[in-house]
Amino acid sequence: AALAELLLSRIREVPDHPQPGVRFKDITPLLADPAAFTALTDALAAFCSEHGATKVVGLEARGFILAAPVAVRAGVGFVPVRKAGKLPGATLSQSYELEYGSAEMEIHAEDLAAGDRVLVIDDVLATGGTAEAALRLIRRSGARVAGLAVLMELGFLPGRERVLPALDGAPYQALLTV
Ligand code: 5GP
Repeated sequence: AALAELLLSRIREVPDHPQPGVRFKDITPLLADPAAFTALTDALAAFCSEHGATKVVGLEARGFILAAPVAVRAGVGFVPVRKAGKLPGATLSQSYELEYGSAEMEIHAEDLAAGDRVLVIDDVLATGGTAEAALRLIRRSGARVAGLAVLMELGFLPGRERVLPALDGAPYQALLTV
């Protein structure tokens, strides 16, 4: 509870960003506070170790910032999942539905080995589309899913319901739910 309070106190709500009606959760104050960023990294690294992950996948772009120090702290590798067209090597690609239109995420499949157990990390779970696409990419690579961890779940959206089938029993953790 002390951790959740610390983290929540460092997340700023920005009204009408990136469009009218959206209250954007801005994590930059948390990143700028070394006590909060360290506490977050330690909590995610503990989840990583507890579930025997051998790699962490961070989702572009804020997921990179959270997942990279977790990888170093937990002593495992880091692999990025990026928006289509950014990764230079051979990729696996997964498209997913947005409210209006669709998007596509990619991974370098060769950065995951068949024996890897992969923890997916992102800052915010909203509709769950991004995380679901990442979980599909990991399964398609032949690696196993160790779990999904996010800093904040938007509880007024059905993101959790969307990712649970893709997790197929693997653990899910949201450090905060709003
Ligand atoms: P979803 O695919 O679950 O609808 O959206 C999640 C993705 O959008 C995440 O990668 C997350 O970084 C970003 N996102 C959506 N809403 C917010 C928000 O309010 N704050 C932040 N920091 N990211 C958001």
